[in-house]
Parts: sequence; structure tokens; C-alpha cells
Amino acid sequence: MLNLRNATRAVVIGGGTAGWFAALTLRRVFAPQVEIRVIESPEIGIVGVGEGGLLNLIDALRRNGIDVNEFVRETGTAFKLGFSYEGWRTGAEDDRYYHLFGRPGLQETDWMEGGFRPLFSGMVREGVELHRYIPGFAAIASNASQQEAAAMLQLGARSGLSASFHFDSHKLADYLRRVAVSRGVVHQQAHVEELMCDAQDMARGVRIDDGEIIDLDLLIDASGLARLGIGKKLGIRWRSFSEHLLLDRAVPFHMPHPQQNPSLVTRAIAMPAGWMWQIPLVERVGAGYVFSSAHTDETQVIDEIHRCIGPDVEPMRTLRFEPGHFEQVWVGNVMAIGLASGFVEPLEATSIGQMLEQLRNFERIVTAGDGVVSGHLIDGFNEANARCWSGIRDFLRMHYDCPRRDTAFWRDVAALPLPPSYSELRQCFQQRTPRLIDVQNYAIHGWQGIFHVINWLFVAAPLGVVPPEAAAAELASLPAASRQRVAIYMNRLRELGAADSISKEERPE
Ligand SMILES: Cc1cc2nc3c(=O)[nH]c(=O)nc-3n(C[C@H](O)[C@H](O)[C@H](O)COP(=O)(O)OP(=O)(O)OC[C@H]3O[C@@H](n4cnc5c(N)ncnc54)[C@H](O)[C@@H]3O)c2cc1C
Repeated sequence: MLNLRNATRAVVIGGGTAGWFAALTLRRVFAPQVEIRVIESPEIGIVGVGEGGLLNLIDALRRNGIDVNEFVRETGTAFKLGFSYEGWRTGAEDDRYYHLFGRPGLQETDWMEGGFRPLFSGMVREGVELHRYIPGFAAIASNASQQEAAAMLQLGARSGLSASFHFDSHKLADYLRRVAVSRGVVHQQAHVEELMCDAQDMARGVRIDDGEIIDLDLLIDASGLARLGIGKKLGIRWRSFSEHLLLDRAVPFHMPHPQQNPSLVTRAIAMPAGWMWQIPLVERVGAGYVFSSAHTDETQVIDEIHRCIGPDVEPMRTLRFEPGHFEQVWVGNVMAIGLASGFVEPLEATSIGQMLEQLRNFERIVTAGDGVVSGHLIDGFNEANARCWSGIRDFLRMHYDCPRRDTAFWRDVAALPLPPSYSELRQCFQQRTPRLIDVQNYAIHGWQGIFHVINWLFVAAPLGVVPPEAAAAELASLPAASRQRVAIYMNRLRELGAADSISKEERPE
């Protein structure tokens, strides 16, 4: 059992996105007399490579009483409406598909019958790209400005799109720090040398660089890739995903916008030994080449970046990681969060999304138990967290279940074993479109899924993981009137011309 009722101090190690979101959460959860202290090393910076959020980012801002408009103003954040995958199938100039943040409500496509959405199945059966049903897609295709995008989003459900943000993690952390400090969080610049635990592995204090020991009742380890608590001190086992996913290095860099306005989607451009992210911020693009060290090296990657983007690009320090997470992230009175707890790869921007879901559940459990939490609940929390990571692993693995085979990397990644859970799903998707029941096991014990079935379909259909025949088979089981409704909708889509392709100028050379 963990009893935090008489807690006097909670310490957060780390002042990155994870650390400051954790501090804001703790400030709300604990009474004002409990000190919340963030200790941040002045020697170690944060990871900031141009990041993008998922849909739970706005929920997290609201939960923490942050005005979204102020947040946008203060952090130079740009709208993010989804992802564009370029070159993941044939590698040809026009090879592009979108995974957009579709918005339910008022959409004809919300119609469900027999456990699936017949209009989506109609699109898959007839090879129509899924983004065609989204009215707001025109704004993405025409490289609309931030103001135009804001106006389009004000249409609400009629736009067919929900928004998250592209942001600069440095600006985000700086803003969250100012908000947290204004609410009474203590910010201390110091390097943590040692985490001190008692015989039961309960954290009792941290020793900082001047020798002072800071006592604590709860420790949040948000120390990024340093992984001081759960990893280094408590030695919890790492659950590696490297059997199923190959990427393990990234070279980040900045570049100017290739178009007039910041793109409204994160671009994921297939490269010979991985892929390149381009995350459009207001003033510039945060970019990087994430690659497999078994297939290329830093020198070749930098050459490739210079060839694609231009000779003036200055690459930043190479980041190394092994895809996976700690089997338990909450042990006694220590919880690891953010990069300190796990990381798979930048695809689909899952890291901050997962971190926010983990924090939401931590808050839910501590609050519901009035600060008294059973070990059994903590076990359930860790189990749910691992399921959440399994869902991320499987969703990302599906992206590499793609037809591209032109380099050793693309051949090898295609040949990697599939996680058994994804392999099972894949077999189902060969028969019918994804359904809610398929992804329910990734969100257990009160957790919410990071990706909805529609997100799965947005990727599975263009890659052929859900073939047209599968959609046709499930449509055939509908009554005649419903099939007629699908036919009418498909005719209308065809009449609309479904041909507003994205301009080719925005592709890299
Ligand atoms: C290549 C790459 C691309 C990514 N792209 C995305 C994306 O698109 N979307 C997304 O959601 N996420 C992305 N991420 C992950 C995202 O960057 C992180 O999840 C997010 O920034 C949170 O980081 P953090 O706060 O966990 O760690 P960090 O930002 O690394 O912060 C760690 C903190 O710990 C402190 N610290 C470390 N050691 C000590 C010590 N001994 N004493 C005191 N303080 C210490 C540091 O000073 C720092 O303040 C990406 C990550 C990588 C590597």
C-alpha cells in the first residue's frame, strides 16, 4: 500500500514536457501545503526536436486549467491536423496517404451498422482515399495559413477535423514552467547525483550536486533518457520492441518551410534506411532523419539530409534509443514518466500522448483513493500501461507492413516477425475493417486508447492491410437498403471529383 495522506513533499526530477506536466498535475492533486518541487539539471538539456501532440494534448491543457489560446500565443505553436505519409508504398513522386484527425459528429460517415462504418467500407472497397470524406481536407491540400485553418476549425464538426499542435518542446517546457511556478511549484536548478531508497525500495530523498539531501514522499522520475529512477536505481526490467521495430537513432535538424505556410500535417517521408519527420512550427520546421543503425550510419544520414534538403542544414547531436519501455513504471512511491519510462520511435508522435494518458490515470487513481493506493491497483496500472505500449508497438509495426522493398532496410523491416497480437489483428483485417472490439485490449483498467479504430483504418487501408475484398465482404452482409445507401454516397463522392491532389512542389527533392 502507498499512503500519501501525510506527504509533505513530492519531487519531480526533470524539467522537460513530462516533468512540467507532472508538476502541474501534482499541484492540483495535493493540498497547497504539500511542496511540489521540480529539480532540473542545468547541465543536461531537454529533448526538443520539433514535437507534435495527439488529440489528448488539448484535454490535458484544459484539465490543467491552461487557456488554449494563451498556450498557442506563448509557445508559437502551429496547428496539427494529422500526418502525411510520403513514399511508404511505391516511393514514387505521388505516393502519399494521410492519417488525419477526423472528427465524429455530423459526419455522414459516423453511421454504424453491424459493428462497422459502411461508408468507410465503401471507400475501402472502391479504393477511394479515406481523407476524401473530410470537408476540411481542402485546407490541408491548399496549404492554408494558420488563420484560415483556425477559421475552418471553428466550423466544429462540420470541418470533419480535430486539431492538435506542432510545437517546440523548449518553448512548451518554458511556458509550462512559468505556469507551474505561478501556482506555487518550486523550481530548483541542480543536478541529482543519487536517489536514496530504504530497504523496501521506497524513495526517501535525492542527493544533489552540492551534497544536500532533499527528503521526499513521492518521486516522479521525468529525467528523460538519463532514466535515473525506475531504470538506474530500481533496475526494473526493460521490455524491448527491437525484435519488431528497427529504428534506433535519429539526427534532428532545423529547416525553413518548404511552402508558404506551415504544413497542417506532420510529414513522414520514407528514406532509404528509415524516414524523415518534418514538423512545421510557426517560424521553421523541426526535422530529423530517424534510421536503423544496422543499415546506415550517421555520416551517410547527414549526406542524405544535405542532398535532400540542402548543404546548409546543420545536423544536431545524434539521439540513440532502443524501442521499448520499463515493465513497471510505478514502483512503491516512484513513478517514471515520459522518456524516462519508455520510447518507441517518433512515428505517429506517440510519446507525449502516452505520457499524458499515464498521468491522467495516475491522477485518477491517487484522487479516487484519497491518497491511499493499494499495491493491487498499482499492479493494474502497470499492466494497463504495458498494454498501452503494446498498442503503440502494434500500430507502429503496421506502418512498416507496407509494400516498399527497394532497399535492404525496407526489405528487412518487412521481414521482421510481427508481434503475435498484431499478427492476429492483421488476419482479422484481411476479412473485414477494424472494429472497436479489436483495439479494446490495448486500453484496460480505465485507460483510454491512444488510437481509435478509425486511426487504424486510416493507415491499414492505404497499405493494403485491409484489402478491398475485406470491405466488400462485410458490406455484402448488409440489407439491400443499407447497401443502396453506400452506393448513393459513393456516387456522390465520385461526382465531387475526388481529385484534389496535393501540389507536388511541397515534396523534398
Ligand atoms: C527523435 C525523437 C523524436 C520525437 N518526436 C516526438 C513527437 O513528434 N511527438 C511526441 O509526442 N514526442 C516525440 N518525442 C518524444 C518527446 O521528445 C518527449 O517525450 C518529450 O519531449 C518529453 O521528454 P521528457 O520530458 O520525458 O524528457 P527530456 O525532455 O529529455 O527532459 C529530461 C529532463 O531531465 C533532466 N535531468 C536529466 N538528468 C538529470 C539529473 N541527474 N538531475 C536533474 N535533472 C536531470 C534534464 O535536465 C531535463 O530537464 C521524440 C523523441 C525523440 C528522441
